[in-house]
Amino acid sequence: MAATIRSTNDCIASIQKTQARVAASIESSKKLDNAWVDFQRQFQDVIDKAIGDVAKGLGREGRDWAKENLRPGSKLPAIGEGDDKMTKLEKFKVLGGDVSMQSIARRVRSGSFKKVVVLMGAGCSTSAGIPDFRTPGSGLYAQVEKWGLPCKESVFDLSYFNKKSPDAFYRIANDMYPRNTFVPTTAHRFVKVLQDQGLLHRCYTQNIDGLERRAGISEDRLIEAHGSFDGDGACGVCQAPCCEQKLREACTSGFSVDEIKKRLKCDKEGCPGHFKPPIVFFGENLPQRFRSNFTNDMDECDLCIVMGTSLQVAPFSSLPALVKDSCPRLLFNRELVGCFADSLLEEGEELEEGEEDSNYRDVAELGNCDDGVVKFCGLLGLQNELGGIRDGKGKGEGGGARKSGGKGGGKGGGKGGALRASVLKSRLPNARVSKGTPPRGGRMQHVKA
Ligand SMILES: [Zn+2]
Repeated sequence: MAATIRSTNDCIASIQKTQARVAASIESSKKLDNAWVDFQRQFQDVIDKAIGDVAKGLGREGRDWAKENLRPGSKLPAIGEGDDKMTKLEKFKVLGGDVSMQSIARRVRSGSFKKVVVLMGAGCSTSAGIPDFRTPGSGLYAQVEKWGLPCKESVFDLSYFNKKSPDAFYRIANDMYPRNTFVPTTAHRFVKVLQDQGLLHRCYTQNIDGLERRAGISEDRLIEAHGSFDGDGACGVCQAPCCEQKLREACTSGFSVDEIKKRLKCDKEGCPGHFKPPIVFFGENLPQRFRSNFTNDMDECDLCIVMGTSLQVAPFSSLPALVKDSCPRLLFNRELVGCFADSLLEEGEELEEGEEDSNYRDVAELGNCDDGVVKFCGLLGLQNELGGIRDGKGKGEGGGARKSGGKGGGKGGGKGGALRASVLKSRLPNARVSKGTPPRGGRMQHVKA
């Protein structure tokens, strides 16, 4: 009898224990549920903010696009709050109604700008004797035009390199490898001057010639958006690594293309691929460093300087559109490009009705970059720091205060779309785009003008 009671008591105790365990488990699963809901909410906020930021850069067009891309029920954060949100007075305050390079320079001198973001393209390196890509006749693409490629960008197209042939790239690789004879230009030295003055927040470059480093831009201030020849490369197909030395030797020793191909054939068994240097090809993702910094950098930027780029390669081309509405943008280039073509008038172009004072922040100094920055440094009182060799008589005399017709935001939906994708998802199928179509993918793409 006693044994039965003991066993019953044991049984009850065991049931109670189980009950307690079930209760504890229900409680902890509730906590987990709450944590999951919280996490989802926070994640959605981040996504909404990213979509909002991009849409803001795109203006009205972006608002509609963003509405489609938000989940039902999500509110539209910051969308359409671009120009419409700033009062006339706030716009006036940005450059005091004097939309010129002189006005920007005065504000730099008085300490109004502390986080300058510089965006550089091939035009900054042409005076160093490095051919840019798009200049008719002398540009790199002019050379490859005779080779019968599907299009000139095929030279740097990952899928062409992998599936058709690496020949075209290997043919020009030797010409592209940075060498000791390349010397930084005035434009590069200008960025170094900004850094020395404690003004440079970040320098983004599309160039792969390494001249920014050589000019002394420090590693932590520099983002080589399209990679560089420095560092180990990898197989285009399977990503097997290939050391820098091997790549450099194969490409720069004067070998025939067939010999280069033999030396740079992927050594992983069964892989048909070839090795390439760590420069970004069309269809490839931009470096992680770009992807994890551009949103904050452009948001914090208080003066955006764009130099020597046609702003035709996404997602880089979207960067100027991501700065705050109160951030002035200064362009040194041969012609108006990207958002500057929206907000400024070409020579001979007329203002339309109602556009008289819509540009309050975009300034362009047209001509070659070196001349433009010499002139700007003169206004900043930093000509000695720059080197003071040149007289600064550029082709872009007359300052940048072109009349305006601006929408202030980015041009077309294409570039913003690429950025959105690279914020949220970086592994989407690549697609070529035309202006105004949001591309699906955060990879390097050519935006057709
Ligand atoms: Zn491989």
